[in-house]
Amino acid sequence: MPSLSSLFLKLLTLGCQHCSSKTLERKVIQVNLGVMVSAATILIFDVLFYLTGNWTVFYSGLIQTPFLLLLPLVWWLNHSGRFFLARWAIFIIVMSDTAVTLFLAQGTIFLIHYYFLLFAIIPAAFFEIAQWRSSALLFIANLSLYCFFQINGWPSLPEIYELQAQQLNLLRVIMVGSSVFTIILLLLISERYSELNEIYLERLANTDPLTSLNNRRHFIDNFQQILLKQLDQQQLALAIIDIDHFKRINDTGGHDAGDEALKHVSHLLKEHIGDSGLLARVGGEEFAMVYIDTESATPINRANTLLLKLENSPFYYADQKYKITASIGLCIFTGQHNLDHVIKEADDALYSAKSRGRNRQETRNIA
Ligand code: GH3
Ligand code: MG
Ligand code: MG
Repeated sequence: MPSLSSLFLKLLTLGCQHCSSKTLERKVIQVNLGVMVSAATILIFDVLFYLTGNWTVFYSGLIQTPFLLLLPLVWWLNHSGRFFLARWAIFIIVMSDTAVTLFLAQGTIFLIHYYFLLFAIIPAAFFEIAQWRSSALLFIANLSLYCFFQINGWPSLPEIYELQAQQLNLLRVIMVGSSVFTIILLLLISERYSELNEIYLERLANTDPLTSLNNRRHFIDNFQQILLKQLDQQQLALAIIDIDHFKRINDTGGHDAGDEALKHVSHLLKEHIGDSGLLARVGGEEFAMVYIDTESATPINRANTLLLKLENSPFYYADQKYKITASIGLCIFTGQHNLDHVIKEADDALYSAKSRGRNRQETRNIA
């Protein structure tokens, strides 16, 4: 049995599997939510109408029933990927519902024609920019309907005038309040979705897709931030780590083996640095780390520990064992140094470690 919240989520996201962008997804969700809000509004009013004990008010609730039953059609259209039709369907249903109720029972006494104002605003949220003609058409039609009924009014059935002034006012407040509530809800969803979208895009722009480590761009940004914050004598260390003879893994086991080896090394590096510094994949088989809050001797020890860890953690792919070693260029510096200078020193140290036979670290201390 699916729980109520998972059913709610399922109905809310009907059709999202067909969406090619987050914006489209948001609009589909807004339409699905529109169905829920419309259905809930009709049901709540039905209950309220019943409580008044007034036959005409009750009847005005009853004549909304066919529209209530039609609303799931919008979900079905979204589910089958027909978003444009779904958008039009929801407007035709809610506009007809309002018009029928207004003409046949309530007139304008409850202010039900205020819903036309709501239907004039919402198309901009439901339709895509490219479908602006639909939004414009619905805007003009609904605004005209609202203005017409606001200026001319429309008589309600006689029994409604028998309602007490208090009951009448309460119903009016709920009519207008539900419109405002709907707009606020849609705005909130829109805002929240934009926020999530931004976070998603930022993560995408900052992350290396193969290893899920930070990429070079994000590393440089973070590194720059650290340098700006550490304008004192505190020592830091940058380690550039390059896998030795990585090409051989690709040549022996294929590109997929190489990819798996990169994930394996990323995992070991993550374990090594924990939460105490920066880590990124800055090139094909090249990684960078910044050791923060470190004593001058510590980064050298830590780099040596890392070399041993890599050497003693062989990697297996397709029943074949690969021994992985790396060379490390280490630069110990203070926050007063400029980023390019620190990177160049670490690069030089790496070059030197490679030329001296690999599987070792070389250190430049410019602190
Ligand atoms: P050295 O010890 O001098 O560093 O030798 P190396 O073979 O590790 O270095 P080289 O720069 O000659 O070759 C790096 C190779 O890494 C070349 C490239 O095809 C491979 N490579 C780069 N990015 C990826 C990747 O994402 N996946 C795979 N499988 N291979 C990659
Ligand atoms: Mg290499
Ligand atoms: Mg390299």
